[in-house]
Amino acid sequence: MTNEELWQTVLAQIQLVISPASFATWFKQTSIVSRENNEITISVPSSFSKEWLRGKYHKLISKIIDEEERGIKEIKYIIGSSTPVIVKHSQEKKINQAPAIEQLDFQELKVDKETNLNPRYVFDNFIVGSFNELAHAAALAVVKEPGRAYNPLFIYGGVGLGKTHLLQAIGNEIDKHSVKTNIKYIPAERFTSEIVGAIRNHQIEALKSKFQKIDILILDDVQFLAGKEKTQEEFFHLFNFLYEKNKQIILSSDRSPKAIASLTERLRSRFEGGMIADISLPDVETRIAILKTKISEKKIDIPEEIINYTANTIQKNIRELEGALNRLITHQKIHNKTLTIEIAKDLLTSFAVAPQRTSSPKKIVQTVNDFYDLKEKEIFEVTRKKEVVKPRQIVMFLLRKELNYSFPAIGRIFKGKDHTTAIHAFKKIQQEIESNEDFTEEINLIKKKLYES
Ligand code: ADP
Ligand code: MG
Repeated sequence: MTNEELWQTVLAQIQLVISPASFATWFKQTSIVSRENNEITISVPSSFSKEWLRGKYHKLISKIIDEEERGIKEIKYIIGSSTPVIVKHSQEKKINQAPAIEQLDFQELKVDKETNLNPRYVFDNFIVGSFNELAHAAALAVVKEPGRAYNPLFIYGGVGLGKTHLLQAIGNEIDKHSVKTNIKYIPAERFTSEIVGAIRNHQIEALKSKFQKIDILILDDVQFLAGKEKTQEEFFHLFNFLYEKNKQIILSSDRSPKAIASLTERLRSRFEGGMIADISLPDVETRIAILKTKISEKKIDIPEEIINYTANTIQKNIRELEGALNRLITHQKIHNKTLTIEIAKDLLTSFAVAPQRTSSPKKIVQTVNDFYDLKEKEIFEVTRKKEVVKPRQIVMFLLRKELNYSFPAIGRIFKGKDHTTAIHAFKKIQQEIESNEDFTEEINLIKKKLYES
């Protein structure tokens, strides 16, 4: 098993036991960077995620790794290279590596220290289809007239659909034409930890004045600011400061501003004040086009039949499509012969599992908790706080709607409540869905998260 395969296997199992939101937050951009002398080193994107993995998930990670590979004595976390390195295990170094793979790795590591931009993400290799053409057009308009065309530009869409790619392409393109422009790409997660760190070390003023010098601010995954009031406040002031000076602000999120729970109203209205563009799922023709482009970039041949099979099998997002393609390419290179459809099917089985249309009370509670940023047990507390009552009613609604639970059974889950409370909750949510479009979108998002693998 290569490092990549081992880590994929571990991730697949972790995904089964933690919520999709936590998984996306803590395990994206992680990889195994070395495995030597009974020691595994896992690369994580930030100090923040390092703390979390070590503090909260270390036991789980160790347990799964131990099941997969006996004899590992130590697991370390380092902050660093975010993209899985394809072939690094000492054994495989002997195999004749194709230049395309090495080059890719090399490029991944060349993130600019000043701008945080990765030169890999450019418009040239960004494929446009009906699923993302609005976002793409808006991005081009921003490149042409930063700070004037659309400010802020807010791009939203599910994971792995190209938000980061597009945001960074804007940065890279502007950077290419004007070296003096101060461009900064910051994942919201990192923005948060910088703010929190600066407050703790009494250096917030210095940090603020650093941020105020930015001409193009790119903040990725702003849904991460949900519930982080202090960070939101700082960001609100920064936003206004830059905005008034016609500096361009570009934001991304996995959902529309309306659907970001616990975002202060004033920040939400700022987010909605410019251009909002979504990226949806590419259809099968576009998925084929994406595969073909990536294959030709890598100067390799993959039979048409396999391309079609891959595009039809992998529907979730572009990142997964790339992962599948990399697996095919690596196999082909190592064995140095053209793939057959049987081998391809075999290689892609782990991607091909159909999404489970099942849920459980635990999963419903967890998903709603994550969505509204509640602590684990908060939803069961006896309280009339609005921030708890509404999510609790949604849980009751979903238990009935998705799992067909009886009202008395729902009451029993929330100790001390009887069936009338459950009925009331169900009706209330039902009514709100019928009368409020934003709320419908919110519920749909929660349902989507519920059934994500
Ligand atoms: P997101 O930020 O929405 O989660 P990313 O921007 O990280 O998604 O995209 C995931 C992967 O898919 C990246 O490797 C990216 O280069 C690739 N990708 C996404 N959209 C496109 C596209 N339209 N054309 C080519 N590659 C894409
Ligand atoms: Mg992203």
